[in-house]
Amino acid sequence: MNSIQQISDIISDCPNCNLAKTRFNAVPGQGNAKAKIMFVGEAPGKNEDLEGVPFVGAAGKYLDKLLDLANLSRDTIFLTNIVKCRPPENRDPLPEEIKECSTYLSSQIKIMQPKLIVTLGRHSLHHWIPEGVISKIHGTITSVDNINIFPMYHPAAALYRGNLREIIEEDYVKLGKYITSFELGETQ
Ligand code: URA
Repeated sequence: MNSIQQISDIISDCPNCNLAKTRFNAVPGQGNAKAKIMFVGEAPGKNEDLEGVPFVGAAGKYLDKLLDLANLSRDTIFLTNIVKCRPPENRDPLPEEIKECSTYLSSQIKIMQPKLIVTLGRHSLHHWIPEGVISKIHGTITSVDNINIFPMYHPAAALYRGNLREIIEEDYVKLGKYITSFELGETQ
């Protein structure tokens, strides 16, 4: 696998776990394959499964607003998930599904070599920082295997816990400042 498009094509036909039997579309990822910033969510939901695109439901609309606060857009980042197919009834992905699917995430990272990974939600955070507690480390940077990890609350969490909105929005403003100071917004 040597290009993001090639990985996407393989993911779209992936038969490697049970989620392949119930998915409508796999959701490999979306955005700029030359971006230095990768956003990684948990798993596709119903709308994402129908469209084959990450974060297209209510959480996705809010994510677009949050990206704007950081002076980012879907064209200046690469957006994907830990698990590329929808778990039925939106249950949590199983450990074996995460393990199987994370080989695709590793390939995407190997090709793109992102300088910064923004984790959205618990499964994504725990992929890099297994003991990480989001309420303690959101909006901070931790270097893991030479990649800077920036944990964020999942945008859906702020939709159902209104008191998180101000916190998450401040984190995106902070992210924007960090990106400007390290010139990570460039995509070439
Ligand atoms: N939530 C996620 O974590 N990923 C999506 O693609 C959509 C909702």
